[in-house]
Amino acid sequence: MRQAMAAAAVGDDVWGDDPTVAQLEAMAAAMIGKQAALFVPSGTQSNLCALLTHCQRGDEYLIGKDAHAYKYEGGGAAALGGIAVQPLPVEPDGTIALDGIDKAVRPDDFHFARTRLLCLENTFYGRVVPLAWQRDAVAVARRHSLATHLDGARLFNAAVKLGVTPATVAEGFDSVSICLSKGLGAPVGSLLCGTHDFIKAARRWRKLLGGGMRQSGILAAAGIYALQHNVARLAEDHANAALLASALHEVAQVHVDAAMVQTNMVFMTPRAGTATALAQALGTQGILVDPGTTIRMVTHLDVSRDDVLAVADAIRRFYQ
Ligand SMILES: *Cc1c(COP(=O)(O)O)cnc(C)c1O
Repeated sequence: MRQAMAAAAVGDDVWGDDPTVAQLEAMAAAMIGKQAALFVPSGTQSNLCALLTHCQRGDEYLIGKDAHAYKYEGGGAAALGGIAVQPLPVEPDGTIALDGIDKAVRPDDFHFARTRLLCLENTFYGRVVPLAWQRDAVAVARRHSLATHLDGARLFNAAVKLGVTPATVAEGFDSVSICLSKGLGAPVGSLLCGTHDFIKAARRWRKLLGGGMRQSGILAAAGIYALQHNVARLAEDHANAALLASALHEVAQVHVDAAMVQTNMVFMTPRAGTATALAQALGTQGILVDPGTTIRMVTHLDVSRDDVLAVADAIRRFYQ
C-alpha cells in the first residue's frame, strides 16, 4: 500500500484533474452500484455531505438512535445545516420497527419540520442488518417520498459475511457512504456514492466543509489498493472475532454474547468493578483497553489469530 501511494500519478483534485482520485471514485461507484462517487477525508464528512445534500434547513431526517451518523458525529447536521433529527428506537440487530418509521414521517403542515430522509447503517455494531428488512424500510421511505442514505462505513464486512456483492447491500439507496480506513486498512478516506447529480451537489458541500484536497491521489492510491486487496480477507477478521468470542466464553468473569458476533466486533462485559484493573493489567502487556461497562474489541488486518489468542489468554490469567 505504501508503495502504491509513493508511485501514484497525481493532479489537483480541487480542479478535478487528479487521475488516481478519479480512478478510485469510478472504482467505488462501480463496486457499490451507483453512477458516481466522491472521495472525502472521513466517514463523518461523507455522512455530513450526504445529509446536507439531501436536506435543506428546517428539514429533518429519521435515523436509529444509536446510529453513528446521529450519535457520534458531533451533531454536524444541526450545527452546520440547520437540519433536525428524529432519532428512532433501534433493535440490537440494527432494525427499526417499520410502522415506527411510517408513523415518524410528519404530515405536510407548517407546524412540523419536513421529513426528508431515512438514514440506515450496515453493519450496525458489527451486526449484519438483514437485507430483507432493509428493502422493506427503503420501501416505507419511498412511499413517503423520502430519500434514503446508507452509512456503509463497514458495508464490506456485511457483504463478505453474507457472500453477496457490495452493490447488493447498497441496493435501493439514493446514497451510500463507505470507509476505506476501517477494516480495509487505508490510512485515510471515505467515499460517498450516488447519482451524477447527487454527487455534483455533494462536491459543493465537500468544498464548503474543507474537504477539497489537492494531490490527494497519494491517499486515493491507498484506497484503490485496499479495495483490490483487503476486501475478501475481511473473512479472516470475522473468523478471528469468532475465535476471540469463543475463547472468552470460557472465562466465567466476563460476559460475551457469542451469538451477537457476526463480523469483526466482540463486545465483552467484565464482572462489575473489575474493568479498570483489567485494563491496567492488560496495559502492562501492551494490550490497550478503553475500560467501560462494555469493552468493544475489533479485529482487523493488523490483528492475527495468535494476537487474538494472546488477548484471550491474558484476560483469562487476570481472573485466575
Ligand atoms: C467510523 C464510522 C463512521 C465515521 O468515520 P470517520 O472516518 O471516523 O469519520 C461512520 N459510520 C460508522 C458506522 C463508522 O463505523
